[in-house]
Amino acid sequence: MQYLSANCIIPVTGEPCYSSVLAVNDDGTVDGIYSESNPGIPSAKIQKYDGILCPGFVNTHCHLELSWAKGLITKGEGLDGFVRELEGLRKKTPDTSIQQAIEKATHDMQHSGIVATADIANGNSTADFKSRSRHYFHTFVEVFGSNPAFARIIFEKAVQLKKQFEKSTLPGGVSIVPHATYSLPEELFRSIASQENENLVSIHHQENPDENSFFQDGSGPIADRRKMFNPDIPAFRGTGKRPIESISEYFNRNQKLLLVHNTVSEQQDIDFVQHYFDRAYWCFCVNANLYIEKKLPDVNLFRSNGCEITLGTDSLASNDQLSILEEIKTIQHYFPEIPLMELIQWGTLNGARFLGLEHKLGSFVKGKSPGIVLIEHVDISTLELKPESTSRLIIPAKI
Ligand SMILES: [Zn+2]
Repeated sequence: MQYLSANCIIPVTGEPCYSSVLAVNDDGTVDGIYSESNPGIPSAKIQKYDGILCPGFVNTHCHLELSWAKGLITKGEGLDGFVRELEGLRKKTPDTSIQQAIEKATHDMQHSGIVATADIANGNSTADFKSRSRHYFHTFVEVFGSNPAFARIIFEKAVQLKKQFEKSTLPGGVSIVPHATYSLPEELFRSIASQENENLVSIHHQENPDENSFFQDGSGPIADRRKMFNPDIPAFRGTGKRPIESISEYFNRNQKLLLVHNTVSEQQDIDFVQHYFDRAYWCFCVNANLYIEKKLPDVNLFRSNGCEITLGTDSLASNDQLSILEEIKTIQHYFPEIPLMELIQWGTLNGARFLGLEHKLGSFVKGKSPGIVLIEHVDISTLELKPESTSRLIIPAKI
């Protein structure tokens, strides 16, 4: 048994604990949180830390395959400029550099306290690494392509890619998902929906206002791009509805659905999702939003609606690091009224719930093995993070 104490222990389920000791079995499972003065705790064996102890973080949105692009993409150019620049650079990057970047990014991510990651794959460049890695990944094989004539080929390719990832993943650890609300024809959405499984679905959602205008009346940059790349298909006239409402018929109501970004989502979007879906999660990737669009989602709107919020890092193409603590620091900087306890729940337990790992991860509850993170350089009296706050994993999770 190991006994750990710090200035504060955040169990996630329950109030922060002071003058307390976290008892952890040698296999990483939590035994419990006890008072320092409990006579059953051998005080000589207590390892004392300065800072906060919390469970391992869950990253619900990442593109590990883009790790090679760290520091290469111009900030603040908008999504359109971002995608163009990325495509141009990708062709010039050798495979060995891509592999090294994937490995280093995962190492750094784990070191910062992330114990499980939902990761998007458009190709197989992360497959070999994931088969060797001990990090927990759920892989989302992503499909897109507006031309219905290619829908069958695109989906078939995704099925093959899914099989490749499944070779080294726990059952249910790979799903085929739509890239975004606007980048697939009905045929592809229906193929995804036809998979007989309980799989998780993730989709990029309302990353900028172009998505809203595309569905409103078929106007704007997304429509222009669609026309440029697919001159033969009929123009899209819009649905007059909001993006997620426009595609909702392709999903079951009880589909576990992760909406990623939500930068321009408004009350009417939240109303629709809460009315239609039983199990929707809203993932924020705030550092990536600032990197690409220089805009943040209306975080308090989601809080006041009782939305289940998770956190993601997005990729190193649009973030300086893959760290959930850095995402929390940014949210706390722009929304100082949100208590740290709540932010840590978004970055731990809520993500674990989305991945279906809440029986193992996300909180310090007896029998779970969520990994233990030490957050250092914190203002303990107010439970606020400082610019210099850091996090590191001191005990790994067991999944
Ligand atoms: Zn993304």
